[in-house]
Amino acid sequence: MIAPFTGAELACIPAGQECDAAAAVAAARAAQPGWAALPLAERGRVFLRFHDLLLDRQGEVLDLIQQETGKARRHAFEEILDTAVVARYYARHSARLLRRRRRKGALPLLTKTWELRAPVGVAGVIVPWNFPLNLAITDAIPALMAGNTAVLKPDPQTSLTALWALDLLREAGLPADVMAVITGEGPLLGPALGARVDYLMFTGSARVGRMVARQAADRLIGCSLELGGKNPMVVLADAVLEDAVDGAIRGCFAGAGQVCISMERIYVADAIFRPFLARFVERARNLKLGAAMDYSVEMGSLTNARQLATVEDHVNDAVAKGALVQTGGRRRPDLGPLFYEPTILTGVREGMKLYAEETFGPVVSVYSIATEEEALRLANDTPYGLNASVWTRDTRRGARFAARIRAGSVNVNEAYAAAWGSVDSPVGGMKESGLRPRHGAEGILRFTESQTVAVQRLIPIAPSHGISAGAFARVMTVLLRLLRYIRILG
Ligand code: NAD
Repeated sequence: MIAPFTGAELACIPAGQECDAAAAVAAARAAQPGWAALPLAERGRVFLRFHDLLLDRQGEVLDLIQQETGKARRHAFEEILDTAVVARYYARHSARLLRRRRRKGALPLLTKTWELRAPVGVAGVIVPWNFPLNLAITDAIPALMAGNTAVLKPDPQTSLTALWALDLLREAGLPADVMAVITGEGPLLGPALGARVDYLMFTGSARVGRMVARQAADRLIGCSLELGGKNPMVVLADAVLEDAVDGAIRGCFAGAGQVCISMERIYVADAIFRPFLARFVERARNLKLGAAMDYSVEMGSLTNARQLATVEDHVNDAVAKGALVQTGGRRRPDLGPLFYEPTILTGVREGMKLYAEETFGPVVSVYSIATEEEALRLANDTPYGLNASVWTRDTRRGARFAARIRAGSVNVNEAYAAAWGSVDSPVGGMKESGLRPRHGAEGILRFTESQTVAVQRLIPIAPSHGISAGAFARVMTVLLRLLRYIRILG
């Protein structure tokens, strides 16, 4: 494992084998009934303690996240924030979200029906390297709160953070075997996990997501897929310019753009295109880059050489085909082997890789648009549908516009933090950006199976007590007609 800031070896991580995945799942399976039998409040207390420990010991994991990913500390802190918020939310609200609910019975008054939620068993959680703490832990938390056990497979690049988080969960009271971390290569351990668990929670690329979905389909188990995006930001003519520029800086360059919900396309109303671009370029040019382990730096490094190669390839391809680099477009080896400048391009057109493919780096294309309808059409002109952002003084109009963008989350006057941080509401991908979102009720219900328990009283739902089949049919016909009009019963 290489440290992105320096290129030096950071640590050696055990290369787990199929037998390790099998052992971890078997242990998790054995631990599951005991864990599920604990009262929900007791499970919740583990995650509230974890919340407190995380805030107390954040310095340790911020160091690890920075060393493993190369991101600036301010961006690493977003992971602390998110993990704490999700831990508190599911610790407090799982009982409500999972409680058994009375449902209307088959026959009014005679059938008493409840909907129950049962854990699926063992959840497999496969995560990428860009958010090594929060992606690893915030999906595991609802899985565990629902009474499942979990086996987590982090990316090899960021296993130290995942192992640290597991230690902290155990310190917070999570019993041994309720959750395990297996380290090693994805193409080996991912399928090994997928062959054994009862649910697959995958975050990563659409390419691997499809493989995971195929394996889940073969085994007829459920899966969640949180995949990539080519996220649009729309700046309407009445936007507050400085706020929009500020949002674009955060939205494009947080985590050096290696954020699934970061902005890669900005559509700006003609009327303010020039001042927006000038100010955005000026701000991006002056961002402070570096490898400092404190809050002084505004953008860190890319995480791996593959990502740097993709960024260069996309920018070079666009430039060769006529796009203009307004700022950036260069590596910064003086800062570290994987640094790349915040980069803004104009003149990006269809046929350039940058136009439609996810870059996943500090690179954004800015376009001027004549009308809102054009902005909407272009924002939606993508197979992805992960996140989007709209800027306007008229927030009602902004919210209406937002609802017409086909993306799982749309932020008005914010790039991503508003929707992502609203953890009571689901976030995920539309179209090729994913299946079955995280957060909110859906974020925990996906780790359960629904069960209907119905108690029939006094008479069966069939001809009986000497009533002929014909009479039964007539009585039922009358009943159905009544139910059509008596809303309270039907
Ligand atoms: P990736 O798909 O290559 O890897 C993700 C995880 O899958 C890693 O742990 C990897 O080891 C594992 N893996 C590799 N091969 C596997 C296989 N055959 N079976 C099962 N697992 C396997 O992802 P990446 O390119 O490293 O990560 C970046 C991508 O993740 C981007 O596309 C980004 O948009 C996406 N992402 C999405 C979200 C979201 O919430 N929607 C969040 C973060 C990142």
